[in-house]
Amino acid sequence: MVAALPKYDLHTHSTASDGTLPPEELLSRAAERGVELLSLTDHDTVAGIDLLKGHPLLDTVRLMSGVELTASWSGRMVHIVGLNIDTQSAQLRRYLEGLERLRNERAEKICQRLVKAGVPDNELLAKAKKIAGGGSIGRPHFAQVLVEAGVVNNAQAAFKNYLGTGKTGDVKMQWPTFNEAIDVIRRAGGEAVLAHPTKYKMTFTKIRTLVTDFVQAGGAAIEVSYTGITPNHQADLERLAAQKGILVSAGSDFHSPGQSWTDVGKFPAVKDPERHILTQLL
Ligand code: AMP
Ligand code: MN
Ligand code: MN
Ligand code: MN
Repeated sequence: MVAALPKYDLHTHSTASDGTLPPEELLSRAAERGVELLSLTDHDTVAGIDLLKGHPLLDTVRLMSGVELTASWSGRMVHIVGLNIDTQSAQLRRYLEGLERLRNERAEKICQRLVKAGVPDNELLAKAKKIAGGGSIGRPHFAQVLVEAGVVNNAQAAFKNYLGTGKTGDVKMQWPTFNEAIDVIRRAGGEAVLAHPTKYKMTFTKIRTLVTDFVQAGGAAIEVSYTGITPNHQADLERLAAQKGILVSAGSDFHSPGQSWTDVGKFPAVKDPERHILTQLL
């Protein structure tokens, strides 16, 4: 038997990437929700964690350094969460700088594609950059630009018509491979977690292959519980983790209080806490 796990959330976002709460407000919200252990896992940046250094609420909420790395596997984009990383690792910092360049290049290309698709070229890039506020720029910032320009009614529609997988604004980049992502996380002293396996529009057969490769490459855990997952999918993933002898992780993937269906610390309980990655990390 393992001791009871604290109330935790190992996957969240702030304004350092595409979340809408500044890191301090995310931390307050976590404290209000009774979360005892929080990992801030912004896309391709640890800038939000830097900002929380010395925050008084860190006596109440334990912060675990994290990141969600954009990576490629078999020609597809996947997300690898790094937990308990040393954010001062020079190698990690260089790696993140490379991703920032790729994101900036992609932002320019997204703009060009949107204009080509008939969206009025009204300072799209400048507006997206302003919304990103110097943080990691991504498609959700363009979604907001499209909403504010009246091109679509909401972010969902922006993804459905312009930015989602296979749409014109889904610009393919040469992201680092997932082996590179796993390596940089491990060299920074952290553990690599495959984020939300059912969110890649892959068949379960494909997911099995992905998880097999992930274990082979040194991955430690797969997420089995997150916002929107069905009980069946969670059970499938927990079974897969047991079969592959890999640990499990979970988190809300919280981005914004505006998304009323998510909250910090809110996601279905993991069924087999003995396999939980926190048993290794705490
Ligand atoms: P990016 O990191 O720029 O590739 O953008 C991916 C992010 O877009 C995800 O982390 C989500 O926050 C958001 N996202 C992806 N698909 C959708 C969708 N269908 N509707 C709303 N947001 C989405
Ligand atoms: Mn996101
Ligand atoms: Mn993700
Ligand atoms: Mn995420």
